[in-house]
Amino acid sequence: MSVLVYIENSEGTFKKSAFEALSYAKEVSSLSNQDVIALSIGKVDAAELEKVGQYGVAQVINVDTDQLGQFVNQAYASVIAEVATSKSANTVILANTFSGKGLAPRVAAKLDAALAVAATSLPTISGDTWTIKRTVFSSKAIATEELTAAKRVISLSPNAFEVKENPVSVNIEAFQANVSSGDLSTVIKEIVRATDKISLPEAEIVVSAGRGLKGPENWGMIEELADVLGAATACSKPVSDAGWRPHSEHVGQTGIAVSPNLYIAIGISGAIQHLAGVSSSKTIVVINTDAEAPFFKVADYGIVGDAFEIVPKLIEALKTYKNS
Ligand code: FAD
Repeated sequence: MSVLVYIENSEGTFKKSAFEALSYAKEVSSLSNQDVIALSIGKVDAAELEKVGQYGVAQVINVDTDQLGQFVNQAYASVIAEVATSKSANTVILANTFSGKGLAPRVAAKLDAALAVAATSLPTISGDTWTIKRTVFSSKAIATEELTAAKRVISLSPNAFEVKENPVSVNIEAFQANVSSGDLSTVIKEIVRATDKISLPEAEIVVSAGRGLKGPENWGMIEELADVLGAATACSKPVSDAGWRPHSEHVGQTGIAVSPNLYIAIGISGAIQHLAGVSSSKTIVVINTDAEAPFFKVADYGIVGDAFEIVPKLIEALKTYKNS
């Protein structure tokens, strides 16, 4: 029996969440005394596939056909289930990303497996009973669940598990998957980016601003700060509702959920609905005039002060640092 970990790529480059899933799967394989195998789907070159070895996983299965060049939920789920069956995997691990959220339940249904979505802990294993913690209610609570089936699918919350390096050499195996026409009834023919800006759900750094900015004319400094940091821009719901910023930037319970390494919240109060979409960020920095703003309770670093004074100083300091 083995542990299969699906590693997601974005245009041929593995995401950070894929390395977290690899590190987690390696640990799960040690706990359950099983081999661990990574699975990559789509166009990824050998040098990128070799990176898997840095995280202690020595075997990668590479499914690279033209039909699977673009992400297709049904087809990718079928391939993951097919490889799991072929490699006798009783545990499938993947990251709980936008794609992972669609894949995990489909793979579980195909394998007749138990499912833990948004896991935040390693499992405690007792035979076929795996006990695992996961976030529920938009990350407002932690549930402890028992998976009692002989097979299980676990999707790992981004930033819940540290990437752990443990270099080994890698064996890459090409796998010919049987993709049925039914799985390809909807295919993406072309993706045209609406903007050259960094994609918000994928961003490693997010600069986000709220009603404290007073009006859309003040977003120049937010965009400049994002440019200096190589960050995506985001906003609170009232800001996009008022048309100050596009709806595609709205984060929170009713907007996009993000989990960057760094989330900088400027002039945002930190209402529970906003936090629901950002609380799995690794490091949170808050800039707010009100020392009692709820956002400070979840902040790693907080600055009590006026954004119109602090943000320009921050931009200057970052530019000086980058030029030095
Ligand atoms: P405010 O609450 O007005 O806060 C502005 C903050 O800026 C204050 O803390 C203030 O101290 C600070 N400030 C003022 N001036 C300055 C200055 N010069 N410098 C620095 N700081 C300053 N909201 C979301 O964001 N995302 C969601 O997905 C979402 N979903 C919702 C769903 C439902 C069903 C409901 C009921 C609400 C939802 N909301 C959501 C709205 C949420 O409840 C809050 O109203 C909203 O997040 C507040 O936005 P804000 O922090 O920008 O504005």
